[in-house]
Amino acid sequence: MIDHDWFSVRQLAEKTYAISEWGHWEKVHSFLLIGQDKAALIDTGLGIATIKEVTDQLTDLPICVLTSHVHTDHIGSHAAFDDIYVHAADEAWLKNGIQGRTLEQIRFDLTRDLTSDLPAYFDLEGFVPFMGEASGLLRDGQLLDLGQRLVEIIHTPGHSPGHVAFLDHQTQFLFTGDVLYTQTPVYAFYPSTSPEDLVTSWEKLSRLPKIAKVFGSHNQLGIEPSILDEAGRAAAFLRQHELVHWGSGLHEFGQLSVKF
Ligand SMILES: [Zn+2]
Ligand SMILES: [Zn+2]
Repeated sequence: MIDHDWFSVRQLAEKTYAISEWGHWEKVHSFLLIGQDKAALIDTGLGIATIKEVTDQLTDLPICVLTSHVHTDHIGSHAAFDDIYVHAADEAWLKNGIQGRTLEQIRFDLTRDLTSDLPAYFDLEGFVPFMGEASGLLRDGQLLDLGQRLVEIIHTPGHSPGHVAFLDHQTQFLFTGDVLYTQTPVYAFYPSTSPEDLVTSWEKLSRLPKIAKVFGSHNQLGIEPSILDEAGRAAAFLRQHELVHWGSGLHEFGQLSVKF
């Protein structure tokens, strides 16, 4: 059993863990995949607590951080790690910060509507989003070898230009970040988003064969792979009705919804 006052850990499969922040309104998930030689940590959470305190309990192997995309709710503990990867199209945000949101807005969103107490050691006035260099870039089709375990990178822009999904070849789990999740709308209405790219990414994911389970980075933990067919049908509907543009509003399809 993993002990932590902020994070909850669930084992999803052998050497495969979800590290969740259920006490925050965004219900953020990060994921740890452990190979023979190293481990991959998909995102590092909100930064309310340091996720390394959890990963240290789960593995002694070196950890590489795989960034699904550079939004502040997924890079919170990046500073605790040395080996960080990101797609080139989000690299400038990792290095220089994300333009367009003030520190006050970020701090407000970080601490509103909580359902758990903030840890006593969390210092809101001291909170600044991570900025730093990546040790390497992620590209579409790349296979990362963790030692007897391959993780495939799938470029899925739309929610952010450099958003990537991850396909773990050991479990056939697909980690879809913020490009596909359930229970709240996927966001593609900011200037930095692209409805066209998001729909293309849904189409791309819907063509992947033999997915065992889908894990988005927010809300419900673990979605049946039929969600990928739903995403493909939703994409077709949105195209057919010429809704793939900013300002077309909220579109709901069963478990999936998207806001343009
Ligand atoms: Zn995001
Ligand atoms: Zn997010």
